[in-house]
Amino acid sequence: MRPVILVSPSIAAAGVEMPDPSISVAGAYLESVMRAGGLPVSLPLSDDPELVADAIARSDGLLLTGGEDIEPILHRAEVSDALRATCFLDHPVRDAMELALIREAFRQRLPVFAICRGHQMVNVALGGSLFIDLPTESPGGVNHNQVPRRFEAVHPIHIEPDSRLAGIVGGLQLGVNSTHHQAVNQPASGLRAVGRADDGLVEAMEWDINAAKTNGWFLSVQFHPERLAPTLPAHARLFAAFVEACRSPR
Ligand code: MN
Repeated sequence: MRPVILVSPSIAAAGVEMPDPSISVAGAYLESVMRAGGLPVSLPLSDDPELVADAIARSDGLLLTGGEDIEPILHRAEVSDALRATCFLDHPVRDAMELALIREAFRQRLPVFAICRGHQMVNVALGGSLFIDLPTESPGGVNHNQVPRRFEAVHPIHIEPDSRLAGIVGGLQLGVNSTHHQAVNQPASGLRAVGRADDGLVEAMEWDINAAKTNGWFLSVQFHPERLAPTLPAHARLFAAFVEACRSPR
């Protein structure tokens, strides 16, 4: 039987019942999970803790997807109007639901693979910080906002040799796409940056050596492997490793 992979949705006024609000999950996530041997399922936007706990209990893994910006007050006490104006925020229930999904998945030791916004949200859930507007708060030498080239590797990341990510990728460098406005600043306690861009920006995280002993499988990435998996085998292997972890009893 295929492991059931819970895929976090967004909400958009689109689809056959346009303009009614509908849950929205890009097909590339679902196809990447299917090709890796998993059965992807999603759920409505809800921050009901009982519904979230039930959904996690009936799933074998959690995939957190990309999306718009995260509400800044979730990780920073004071945010200027100018900084807030740079944000294009996602639905507030999505923020609340993902925080609940992450906490419950970690509590139940479910394997978690977190992509882009998901990578940032895990850091927020565990008490880490984000750059709210990357171009002004961390103007490095790398262009991280390359939406037209989202199906191509546009910048390299450098991978820590003793990491799970290095084992999956089979090397210490990986070309990635880059379509993000925000980014991880300080990784939360328990997390370790295992991939960085040339400008030092955190592009991948895992549990640190101590947290790994008591927690389930976890990997987060700032890039979008679901868009690269059909053409670049190392990105497909990220989904394969995740789905394989979801086959084990928690
Ligand atoms: Mn990037």
